[in-house]
Amino acid sequence: MSRVLVVLETANGAVKSASLPGVTCGQQIAAKDGGELHLLVLGADVSAAEAARGFGAAAVHTLTAAELEPFTAEAWGDAIVHAARSIGATHVGGTATSTLRDALPRAAAVLDSPLVSEVVAVKAVDTFTRPISAGRALVDMKLSGPVAFFTARATEFPPPNQGGSSPVKALGGTQLNTRGVTVVGVHKTESARPALTEARVVVSGGRGMREGANFGVLEELTDLLGGALGASRAATDAGMVPADLQVGQTGKIVAPELYIAVAISGAIQHLAGMKGSKTIVAINKDEEAPIFQIADYGLVAKWEDTIPQLTALVRQHKAAN
Ligand SMILES: Cc1cc2nc3c(=O)[nH]c(=O)nc-3n(C[C@H](O)[C@H](O)[C@H](O)COP(=O)(O)OP(=O)(O)OC[C@H]3O[C@@H](n4cnc5c(N)ncnc54)[C@H](O)[C@@H]3O)c2cc1C
Repeated sequence: MSRVLVVLETANGAVKSASLPGVTCGQQIAAKDGGELHLLVLGADVSAAEAARGFGAAAVHTLTAAELEPFTAEAWGDAIVHAARSIGATHVGGTATSTLRDALPRAAAVLDSPLVSEVVAVKAVDTFTRPISAGRALVDMKLSGPVAFFTARATEFPPPNQGGSSPVKALGGTQLNTRGVTVVGVHKTESARPALTEARVVVSGGRGMREGANFGVLEELTDLLGGALGASRAATDAGMVPADLQVGQTGKIVAPELYIAVAISGAIQHLAGMKGSKTIVAINKDEEAPIFQIADYGLVAKWEDTIPQLTALVRQHKAAN
């Protein structure tokens, strides 16, 4: 019977919404063989463990140590290994966030265990589906090893089932080793906009925006829609906007309610990051642009003509409602 340990990320006494797809994936694995779900909260402030008691887990485990904050993959890796051993986990994973993409492979290596990343479906307790070739194909992978490690693609799992009131258990102390890494400063990006991966609306610009200053018109539309700004890699590589706005295979994976792609051709690597969006709108002057093949609504036009009009219409609509 499986014992699935899901690592949570928390902030201000709450479980980050980014962690929830990992919980759902863990619930699905445990359900395959009537196994148990266990949750893990790491860090100096484990009050968020209370907030994690409603996901039907056999227990919410906490591990407090000064080395766990600020985050280093080295210390988190050690902590995850300690928790996995203490609980006797058969599976360990979480959402494919930048934090867990960093920490889980270290823990898997220490336990000499296999890891499957970006899981999009749970086929069996040991078999998982993940995309390959920038989403052009799916592969089913069967894992055998002491512990099966996984990261779940955030856009592919619905919110977790709620239920029960799990006990909170503090794990005994262990030695955590940051292996010579000291975080000397954390510089947070200040933005009034929602995080790209959590926004309900994303407006992205591509190379056809030509220069950074032109993104101003997209920012205006983005803010009216209460969304997040994104970009293609061509736009970030050209320095038009910061690299952390990149959507795609080597950027962020997003699946908002509405994705507006402006002056983006629709290369497969870009589509890999946004094709799960509910409604896709494409604005491009080239009617042959591949983005139109996956767009729900397409407009063959120059952004210079379209975006100011669209922005004015949204403003009018908001004023009237
Ligand atoms: C290993 C690898 C990983 C990659 N990862 C990513 C990734 O994560 N994300 C990503 O985005 N790319 C990624 N790429 C790059 C990708 O292959 C494309 O090069 C990139 O997505 C192209 O960006 P773009 O659509 O903005 O530019 P282009 O392909 O140059 O398209 C620009 C578009 O703008 C349109 N246009 C021009 N002027 C206007 C105008 N005035 N009004 C309206 N439309 C206009 C044009 O018709 C054109 O379709 C990756 C590539 C590789 C090899």
